[in-house]
Amino acid sequence: MSHSQINHLVIVGGGTAGWMAAASISRQLANFPIKITLIESEDIGTVGVGEATIPSIRSYNDSLGIDEIDFIKATQATFKLGIEFRDWREKNSRFFHPFADYGIDLNGVAFHHYLTRAQSLRLPADPAEYSFATQLAWQNRFAQPHPNPPSPLADFGYAYHFDAGRYAQFLRAYAEARGVTRIEGKIANTELQPDNGNITAVTLDDGRRVSGDFYVDCSGFRGLLIEQALHTGYDDWRQWLPCDSAIAVQSDKAAELTPYTRTTAKAAGWQWRIPLQHRTGNGYVYASEFCQQDEAEATLLSGLDTTALTEPRRFQFVTGKRKKIWHKNCFALGLASGFLEPLESTSISLIQTGISKLLEFFPHQGINRADQNEVNRQHSHEFERIRDFLILHYKASKRSDTPFWQHCRQMAIPDTLAHKMDVFNSRGKVVMLEPEAFERDSWVTMYWGFNDLPQDYDRRADTLSDAQLAEQLEKMRTAVKQASSQPLSHEDFIQRHCAAPN
Ligand code: FAD
Repeated sequence: MSHSQINHLVIVGGGTAGWMAAASISRQLANFPIKITLIESEDIGTVGVGEATIPSIRSYNDSLGIDEIDFIKATQATFKLGIEFRDWREKNSRFFHPFADYGIDLNGVAFHHYLTRAQSLRLPADPAEYSFATQLAWQNRFAQPHPNPPSPLADFGYAYHFDAGRYAQFLRAYAEARGVTRIEGKIANTELQPDNGNITAVTLDDGRRVSGDFYVDCSGFRGLLIEQALHTGYDDWRQWLPCDSAIAVQSDKAAELTPYTRTTAKAAGWQWRIPLQHRTGNGYVYASEFCQQDEAEATLLSGLDTTALTEPRRFQFVTGKRKKIWHKNCFALGLASGFLEPLESTSISLIQTGISKLLEFFPHQGINRADQNEVNRQHSHEFERIRDFLILHYKASKRSDTPFWQHCRQMAIPDTLAHKMDVFNSRGKVVMLEPEAFERDSWVTMYWGFNDLPQDYDRRADTLSDAQLAEQLEKMRTAVKQASSQPLSHEDFIQRHCAAPN
């Protein structure tokens, strides 16, 4: 057994963040004699709406040794090849953001430069025709990618939609089986050590006192430890991402199970639609400055394609991030660490990367200031890069039909994003400030989807003659078309391999 100065780790909160943390820590630090306690309050409940993910969720589940089929059945999950954007560029427009690259890079030059050239030659230049995942999605088909795909065209990622409550339960069973102790109760007070300000204990409203050496704050938006007790501070980004409210409602199962999340731009924000095996998740994310609550609710309900099953639930949030996720002996995860609207389904992946940082820099030998600084630097970088990607969705829209969209077109944007947009506009170069959650072709999707096409392309793409380029593009389109007509429908794939019990 290995040694650690941390004998007792206390996790506050039993939402997706709390149970993801409990499951990972109990597995990854199983060799250390660390007692893990998780405190949650059924009275307070969880936010319960994080149901769409990005492909990194699969490596999280893999890291726990979770069987994919068991997980899908337990959480009523469906597969997700990407996100459909409806009405974003302008009304009656649509494009798809796949978890995949487009085409095949040729002679070391990124494929999208050939698309720009193809456009000038009036050859087919719709990126969707060069994306296997997009074609599968448009046909409501699903297949798992081959582990060693025969061609880059056949390489794509996938994620899941799942029932957030069931996922937390699933992980709870996993963590409890590995020795995590759960305490049901409401924390009323946090005690701090007078000399150094570290947390010494939390007290529940029934008088029970729980004392630990290290605390993981997964208490949601309230940030019970990281903010309310330690006053860490928050960067408010609403000047760039004006949505600050949401309404969510569950509805009947969709008639056709789409293997993607749909986001539809609305008058003051956007509506999500997440298909699960047993029901559909829906919500409207909007800016309260431009839309009253009643109006938002009416918009959401009129945009459902199946019958509502629940009363609408309301949320308010401040987009931004905690100034530090690691402060004193407290590490914040999930909503307690910051919030970026779920337009690209990034929150759960940020929990995952937060857990990775906690485990990589775990203070077995005491808290080291340099480690803390590095974790907080990485946290800021990660949030800022996703922030810029999200702002692009609003800034690049051509809509001006409502005050909200007019505001988005006129608003100032961070210098980092302005630089990226300028360089792409000049020569089609996607500037990456790595590491970034969204890779080159995700940015290409957005520029192309919003019709922000570059003025020029990488001139090395001229190495191919016009005829050679036409031939290469034709081959790729044909291969994508043929391969994407083969797989089962998404519904049939699930019925055959991983249908959840009724
Ligand atoms: P919560 O779920 O709020 O859990 C907080 C926990 O702390 C609860 O167990 C609560 O009981 C406990 N707690 C709080 N105070 C106390 C106390 N005093 N005493 C004891 N216990 C306490 N993410 C995605 O990745 N994809 C999405 O599609 C997505 N959609 C979203 C839509 C909306 C409208 C919102 C608001 C968020 C969405 N998210 C999404 C984010 C996602 O919901 C969260 O990242 C995820 O659920 C994690 O939440 P959490 O565990 O941090 O907080």
